[in-house]
Amino acid sequence: MVNYRGAEMTVCDEKFLEQAYVLGTRNAERVSLYARKASQEDRQHLARAFRVLANSRRVHMKRCRLLIRGKVASTLYDMKKQFVEETTQALEQYQSLLEQSRAANDKVATNAIDQFLCVEEANSSLYERAARLSETEPPQEYWVCQICGFVKEQKPTDRCPVCGAVHDKFQLVE
Ligand SMILES: [Zn+2]
Repeated sequence: MVNYRGAEMTVCDEKFLEQAYVLGTRNAERVSLYARKASQEDRQHLARAFRVLANSRRVHMKRCRLLIRGKVASTLYDMKKQFVEETTQALEQYQSLLEQSRAANDKVATNAIDQFLCVEEANSSLYERAARLSETEPPQEYWVCQICGFVKEQKPTDRCPVCGAVHDKFQLVE
């Protein structure tokens, strides 16, 4: 184990920490699912162990967040570049998953992933619109469909255009 406490952070450090953060998020979410499943199957020791693992991984995420705090927000250009790249990647990955589940005739997964893809496509321009807003303007309202994740920028009065959920399934996110 090495310890470079007090060393200055470089651009590469930030990139690696961001990757570690993403990895931590994915792994923490995965073990949380295992914990829920173990709990449903009445395997309480295993459920607790999985919850502990999730918590431990969240500590990693928190540390990454603390280390990169302030650095990412100050580099608007990097944020935009990264956001666009990540969105493109997410779209490609969903598209590939969708093709696989469609080919396998897995209807439940196909329906869900098809909706995720629609939502990701619709969301891909959200950053651009938010970046254009002046800091003196009142905060933009965002309403998120809790069934499919579709985002509306005004209070919804109609059904969700992606999944058809009734308008009170939308939650205001501030
Ligand atoms: Zn929806």
